[in-house]
Amino acid sequence: MMEKMTSGQLIDLEDKYGAHNYHPLEVVLERGEGVHVWDVEGKKYYDFLSAYSAVNQGHCHPKIVGAMVDQAKTLTLTSRAFYNDALGPYEKFVTEYFGFDKVLPMNTGAEAVETAIKLCRKWAYEVKGISEDAAQIIVCDNNFHGRTTTIVSFSNDAVASKNFGPFTPGFIRIPYNDSDALERALNENDNVAGFLVEPIQGEAGVFVPDSGYIEKAKELCAANGTLFIADEVQTGIARTGSLLAVCGDCNCGNTCEKDSNTYVKPDILILGKAISGGAYPVSAVLADDSIMNVIKPGQHGSTFGGNPVAAKVAVAALEVVRDEKLAENARRLGVIFRKEMNRIIDSTDLVLKVRGRGLLNAIIVNDTEESETAWNLCVALKENGLLAKPTHGNIIRFAPPLVMNEQQLMECVSIIEKTINEFKQ
Ligand SMILES: *Cc1c(COP(=O)(O)O)cnc(C)c1O
Repeated sequence: MMEKMTSGQLIDLEDKYGAHNYHPLEVVLERGEGVHVWDVEGKKYYDFLSAYSAVNQGHCHPKIVGAMVDQAKTLTLTSRAFYNDALGPYEKFVTEYFGFDKVLPMNTGAEAVETAIKLCRKWAYEVKGISEDAAQIIVCDNNFHGRTTTIVSFSNDAVASKNFGPFTPGFIRIPYNDSDALERALNENDNVAGFLVEPIQGEAGVFVPDSGYIEKAKELCAANGTLFIADEVQTGIARTGSLLAVCGDCNCGNTCEKDSNTYVKPDILILGKAISGGAYPVSAVLADDSIMNVIKPGQHGSTFGGNPVAAKVAVAALEVVRDEKLAENARRLGVIFRKEMNRIIDSTDLVLKVRGRGLLNAIIVNDTEESETAWNLCVALKENGLLAKPTHGNIIRFAPPLVMNEQQLMECVSIIEKTINEFKQ
């Protein structure tokens, strides 16, 4: 038997043999269950990141893992050169669940965003009648849509794009949460094919736009014959207290309430992360036939996209969201969480503000973006048994699994409160 390795040894291995494209908090996890994870020394933590909202259904959900293991023993991959018996039922399920005619299955969020961009451009040339290679897609400042060359081409995060050029043209960047800027961009450019937007900007620091912004954006796009493309890779699947963030205050919490007056239906919906409950890489692009049918055989694909394991995992993961009423839970606990954070903020100078929707929240630490304070606060939270990470500089995102109960949430609130009160800069 090999001696069990310590956290320090495992960190050294990653440091020596792995590319340094991440800067992890110094905790080495070996096990997860529900809202908890355990490190290799056996210490238990509340997970307040949920793998960037991929693990909304909680770690190792038995129903999701069961579906995955069963299918893994039966058939894992056929490629799309052949049909498989899991894909069709999944496609029917997921399109009915979200209310679209068709789905295009991919694996990662970035791939789904790439797929949406390709779909939007093809639609622009073949349906809208934009002349070839002239299509423009409007995006927002401080967007995060993934890490491919094309996606970083329209990022304004210098860390993400510096020295990765030459970049893909065809994008216009405008301020977020500014429908006048969108209106101007649509009016001033002839060849706009789509508007790609996060209904809440997660990576940017859980920036919630003003109410009405998403509705107005969709309205402007519709009037202009431009596709409204929602990237809900992080905000979707119950995270913000409704099935999708574009559901707004619609509290159906089940499948999209198409006649709810707050629901803004995207022309293209991009999902990833929690569509698999974090068990397996699954992403999806949903659209109606008038858009999706522009893609013909051979024009787009993925070896693993739509594989039977992914199909079974996604159905199970979405059933868990519905059956365990995770949207309602996120909505209810989110209200309590922000109220408690505001109570703590009233009695400390360390934190300025809490913002968010459902269980996608962030606190703004009272220091400069360049300061180490938020990082050090996360280190202190870790010592006290709660794992979270700064998004940008002085902003800490709090996004626990949605299977959390109120008692667990209150325990987390007291860990956060104690950590803030004891924190020395
Ligand atoms: C995480 C994320 C992506 C990228 O997903 P990957 O699976 O990491 O490629 C895209 N868009 C948003 C909004 C995300 O949060």
